Amino acid sequence: MMKNEKKMRDHCIRCGECCLASSPTLQMADVSLVYDGLIEKGNIYTIRVGELVRDNVKGEMKVTDKEILKIREKENGKGCVYYDEDENACTIYEDRPIQCRALACWDESEFMRVYARPKLSRRDVISDRNLLRLMAEHDKKCSYMGLEKYVRQIEKEGEEAVRTILELLKFDYKIRLLISEKLGIDAAEMDFLLGRPFTETITMFGLTVTREPDGSFFLTTSANR
Ligand code: SF4
Ligand code: SF4
Repeated sequence: MMKNEKKMRDHCIRCGECCLASSPTLQMADVSLVYDGLIEKGNIYTIRVGELVRDNVKGEMKVTDKEILKIREKENGKGCVYYDEDENACTIYEDRPIQCRALACWDESEFMRVYARPKLSRRDVISDRNLLRLMAEHDKKCSYMGLEKYVRQIEKEGEEAVRTILELLKFDYKIRLLISEKLGIDAAEMDFLLGRPFTETITMFGLTVTREPDGSFFLTTSANR
């Protein structure tokens, strides 16, 4: 679609191009959608403070200083998880997030007005005290600031720093299984409750994790570093 064609529009033709491009970030105005389960927690992931994230508005990568809740994207890279390509429709259209309601590809003013409003965070939709405590403890032990510190130490301390990182990755991995099993929470909700696992996001530091047949983790530098 040419940019000029979009500018010539004055209404949405529901082509789905925006839904195929990315998924929305949730704002405070969406709180009841999550709280009431209209948007399932298993379809949300948390981008925690210190994580590298693409700012779709500015079109650049940045380290976020605020927590962000985002609707999952499809694994095949074809946009928002709620977009049904066969039907060419949003499967939660009546309950879609406020950013989707505000989006008009021919005029970004309403979207920018909504985007500037407060964002939703985990604490706005979790009321269970035990979960809040677990979340806070995980944030403290598995902070991105801490991980970055250990990554920086690799050059100086070598194997010892690598071992510390692997211990942290193992903790972050196992706590998810434990919480899911002991508290009966769907494993799909762990990316919401604890953010995406370090095993995925450590690529922001130019490192990749592979799983050995014996279940242990192995750390390498990313090929495209
Ligand atoms: S707002 Fe999205 S669905 Fe509507 S016309 Fe623009 S790109 Fe297509
Ligand atoms: S929630 Fe619906 S409208 Fe919003 S991006 Fe996803 S499919 Fe599109």
